Amino acid sequence: MSLHGASAIDARSHRSRGQIEHDIWQAGLAAGLGESRDLPLDAHMHTVRSPDTRPDALLDAYCAAALEREIAELAITDHVDFDPLAPAYAYATFEERERDVREAAERWAPHGLAVRLGVEVTYERRYEDDIREWLRRNPHDFVIGSVHSGPASLYEPDRVAAFLAGKSLAEATAPYFDEVVAAAQSGLFDSLGHLDVVKRWLIPHVMPDAFAARPELYEPALAALVASGTALEVNASGLRQLPRETYPSQAIVARYLELGGGAVTVGSDVHRMDWFGFGLGEAYRLARDVGVEALAFRRGGARVWVPVPPGTPNR
Ligand SMILES: [Zn+2]
Ligand SMILES: [Zn+2]
Repeated sequence: MSLHGASAIDARSHRSRGQIEHDIWQAGLAAGLGESRDLPLDAHMHTVRSPDTRPDALLDAYCAAALEREIAELAITDHVDFDPLAPAYAYATFEERERDVREAAERWAPHGLAVRLGVEVTYERRYEDDIREWLRRNPHDFVIGSVHSGPASLYEPDRVAAFLAGKSLAEATAPYFDEVVAAAQSGLFDSLGHLDVVKRWLIPHVMPDAFAARPELYEPALAALVASGTALEVNASGLRQLPRETYPSQAIVARYLELGGGAVTVGSDVHRMDWFGFGLGEAYRLARDVGVEALAFRRGGARVWVPVPPGTPNR
């Protein structure tokens, strides 16, 4: 596997990934990516009930911002992990999260804003039975399943280079995509979060154009989404992170539709107040431009469809 991407980043500076992503976010703001407004739904949001948020990631602050920007509905999808060593293991109880969200929903409903109780479960095959049982006991309006890089992951920054040595891109991404396929096949989730976030973890060793050149790597995951009816999320956070593109890219969303997939959802994956809405309008535009006319969502009960507004692009 080529390592030339590493020198491309290192040559530019010796700044941390966090500093580089701060600059990408700032450049995105300058380009108008923060201007998301007049949209029906943000289906992926984290508050202080997630361990990786800032203290200003407050539900009422999000609600006030949504009202001001005419974003009509929010799904609060705080992290829940099942690995006892992972940060969102027992970080907040279901009851705490449920109370926060239901009380906020009551406060904000008179203003015309809908707030839903969601969750972003970290999927791992070894915990599938636990996840199934937990979701059964703790019903949510909307459930995202995501594969993350946990404490034992091969993709953690201090071991990813050693893991990649001598591997093809297919071999390097197999541990991630195999887990994504299993998550889709489990049928546990309304939506699969940030389908190819692995492209962030491989930077600078592998750059996103290497993924774009190998769309067949996505086929098993897309086929599993189609077969199970699990929605594909267009996650805007990649626009403020090293890949500088959504998870997944527009081409992959188009391929999912070609394969017969019909359920797409959109989320900002905000973790702090000043990220509110970042990239959300762009994610809508990207989905609309490949023919998505309504987003798949759930408010408890059966799946519902949220029309994608036509017309001028909202950045
Ligand atoms: Zn996630
Ligand atoms: Zn998230």
